[in-house]
Amino acid sequence: MATRPKLNTDTLQDKIKGTIILPDHSAYDDARRIWNAMIDRRPAVIVRCGEATDVAAAVGFAREHNLEISIRGGGHHIGGHSVCDDGLVIDFSGMKNVRVDPGTRRAYVQPGATLRDFDQAVQLHGLATPVGINSTTGISGLTLGGGFGWLTREYGMTIDNLVAADVVTADGKMLHASANENVDLFWAIRGGGGNFGVVTQFELKLHPVGPNVFAGLIVFPFQQAKQVLTRYREFVESAPEQLNVWAVLRQAPPLPFLSADVHGKEVVILAVFFAGNPSSGEKILQPLRGFGNALGEHVGSMPYTQWQQAFDPLLTPGARNYWKSHNFTEINDNVLGTIIEYASKLPSSECELFLGLLAGAANKIPTGATAYSARDAKFVVNVHGRWQSTRQDDECIGWSRAFFIAAAPYASSGAYTNFMTADEGERVAAAYGANYSRLLEIKQRYDPQNIFHLNQNIRTSDPIRGDIAQRRSA
Ligand SMILES: Cc1cc2nc3c(=O)[nH]c(=O)nc-3n(C[C@H](O)[C@H](O)[C@H](O)COP(=O)(O)OP(=O)(O)OC[C@H]3O[C@@H](n4cnc5c(N)ncnc54)[C@H](O)[C@@H]3O)c2cc1C
Repeated sequence: MATRPKLNTDTLQDKIKGTIILPDHSAYDDARRIWNAMIDRRPAVIVRCGEATDVAAAVGFAREHNLEISIRGGGHHIGGHSVCDDGLVIDFSGMKNVRVDPGTRRAYVQPGATLRDFDQAVQLHGLATPVGINSTTGISGLTLGGGFGWLTREYGMTIDNLVAADVVTADGKMLHASANENVDLFWAIRGGGGNFGVVTQFELKLHPVGPNVFAGLIVFPFQQAKQVLTRYREFVESAPEQLNVWAVLRQAPPLPFLSADVHGKEVVILAVFFAGNPSSGEKILQPLRGFGNALGEHVGSMPYTQWQQAFDPLLTPGARNYWKSHNFTEINDNVLGTIIEYASKLPSSECELFLGLLAGAANKIPTGATAYSARDAKFVVNVHGRWQSTRQDDECIGWSRAFFIAAAPYASSGAYTNFMTADEGERVAAAYGANYSRLLEIKQRYDPQNIFHLNQNIRTSDPIRGDIAQRRSA
């Protein structure tokens, strides 16, 4: 591959408030690093935007210089499209502001905000909206793909709470998208990811939550997995939507409330959450304690923001990760059997199987109401292949893929693009199901040249890639 001569970015710098980071900049290596350590790419230029108008300038510059465009929110997506080789990265890590209007219960969120930035700002007013469970995740990618977490059963997905967004499109226009303006674009960005433009602000609806919730972990021996998960399945069937319980099968981390001889042993962890009055939560969650002979628990009333960070120590950046995901309308015995079988052969101490409960408000939205289409999904099961050394790549990726294939016959339709690896491009159409044809039409209208293709691509054409291929072979 021919090496690109150093780009002259003077004209771009004159137009923007933010910072341009070229490969010889002292911040370059830090700026190109993302959450998944498997991704090691070297962009030609990183534009750390300072304000929304910087985005239009960056898109224009990329087009002029035939550069592929990556968009980086929190840099968490497992596929690693937020950083590219030899192209231009639109980096939002300098735009993290969250403005809250408590009167109207709205948050105006810049695209570089993490979930921690968001939760902390809105909780100052006793408010929240459904977002993910790891506080270093970016609000941008999470929202554009759908977004779910502890509050989803009660308040739906993040996109179900998106009121409006400001979007810079491929031709550099700055559009406002809402239920009344640029309606098609608004529909498409609620699940369609970064395919349609670059979002420079999200307006989100908020709900009263906390400040304290009743939440925590109950840990059972792996030998009781079948019993615990069967009872879990029955319990959640009729549990109120303010309550959420997810199950994780993995080796026990060195949690202080577990005795040392349990550390490193396979266990089943029930992560429990109740959004209502903490004293009611204690009563409602009590039956879970009897699902088996618990090895230990840490459950109680705690600040919502603390619970939102509870999984951070298990999901730190810098590890190698390969994740896959299926939706389920029910967790039948075959699914349980497959989960238990693969949890009995975990290839590393950090690999895990994650069973998340979505059933509730998200299922009440019609399939065609947003680009995200899997409105029948009541559960999501993720295989989290996670390890430290390149020597374990084959084994951990192989285990993740084998689980994914084994569980596929029982999965329901659609897929969550936010958990799709970079090698799942062929799965994108199936992920959107009945909504895919409308997504193609809207993509054709807003980005006919597929400028924004480093994502779970809704592919209409490929001219930019063609140009780049020619340039590279020159
Ligand atoms: C540890 C971990 C925990 C997770 N937990 C959850 C969870 O509980 N719930 C859940 O729903 N998901 C969860 N996810 C998945 C998460 O939603 C996706 O990884 C999401 O893409 C992360 O957003 P980001 O901004 O950090 O990612 P990035 O990698 O920065 O962005 C992902 C993609 O989104 C697009 N994009 C980003 N910003 C913009 C923008 N401003 N405008 C246009 N396009 C943009 C780009 O195409 C980009 O490649 C988790 C992921 C990880 C790694």
